[in-house]
Amino acid sequence: MTDLIIEKLKNIVGSEALLINEPMKNHTTFRIGGPCGVMLLPKSGEEIRDSVKVLRESGVKYYIIGNGSNLLVSDKGFDGAIIKLSKSFSKTEVNGTEITAQAGAMLSGVSSLAAQNSLTGLEFASGIPGSIGGAVLMNAGAYGGEMKDVVVETEYLTNNLEIKTTKEHGFSYRHSVFQENGGIVLKTRMVLKKGDKDEINAEIGRLTAQRKAKQPLSYPSAGSAFKRPEGYFAAKLIDDAGLRGYTVGGAQVSELHTGFVINRGGATAADVSKLLDDVRDIVFEKFGVTLQREIKYLGEEK
Ligand SMILES: Cc1cc2nc3c(=O)[nH]c(=O)nc-3n(C[C@H](O)[C@H](O)[C@H](O)COP(=O)(O)OP(=O)(O)OC[C@H]3O[C@@H](n4cnc5c(N)ncnc54)[C@H](O)[C@@H]3O)c2cc1C
Repeated sequence: MTDLIIEKLKNIVGSEALLINEPMKNHTTFRIGGPCGVMLLPKSGEEIRDSVKVLRESGVKYYIIGNGSNLLVSDKGFDGAIIKLSKSFSKTEVNGTEITAQAGAMLSGVSSLAAQNSLTGLEFASGIPGSIGGAVLMNAGAYGGEMKDVVVETEYLTNNLEIKTTKEHGFSYRHSVFQENGGIVLKTRMVLKKGDKDEINAEIGRLTAQRKAKQPLSYPSAGSAFKRPEGYFAAKLIDDAGLRGYTVGGAQVSELHTGFVINRGGATAADVSKLLDDVRDIVFEKFGVTLQREIKYLGEEK
């Protein structure tokens, strides 16, 4: 990327919000990934729009991330711009039974904010380590709840670089319309219900304990590696295929929860990718079911 493009981007986001050759392993929960060309940390929808405009006009590839908790980045990194929506774009507002949050707010933080305000409906989200933007894009869900149950309206940047608001999210299992239309989620409004603070906190405590007991939270991972195939459970198929503990380099099918792939230390993206392909192939051979990756991949494979 030329100095001129970098200068233009600095003029939009400020020089403190532009990092050069930033290692992506510091921005993914897998702790894997080579450097990106630049990383931008915008503070507003307008900064995101203007940055995307410059990047497109300059022919530079770009990719949006939140907390990098559903993301595997190539060992070679990403030869383009990462637009990371995080702390600097994370304002939240409570209005009666509604919460509005910018895309960079952490879902767990918004779930606690709901609890503090005696609002029920986001308990399911307390342990999902993603941003609001990533959670809306993925229609994140757990323990019977999904973003689609609470999200009513989203402000997003369209592919034509207009900032628009929509009530049509096209939500389905781990899917939203933004995966198809290339929209960048900027802000979302959620409607909750008045509840009892102690009961809400007790439910959050119960779900947290359940996660701690059942998920390998002491290892870096990106959560469930595969989507749930219709009529099956990915973790059970993987276990029944004899793949508990299956290892490629530093990557391993978790012994504790076979739906998770963990980084046991020093895993490369190539290790994880090979492991995911092996698991998919072996499960298909044994049961005729095709597992699809839930984890997004960024960069060149291998
Ligand atoms: C320990 C652990 C447990 C997990 N448990 C769950 C669970 O119970 N349920 C569940 O659903 N998930 C779970 N996950 C996966 C993950 O946390 C969710 O998918 C989360 O919603 C991803 O959010 P993120 O901000 O980290 O997204 P990222 O990983 O940063 O990005 C994921 C995708 O979203 C896109 N994206 C991010 N922000 C935006 C935006 N503002 N606009 C448009 N696109 C955007 C990215 O381009 C990418 O394609 C878990 C992960 C871990 C590590």
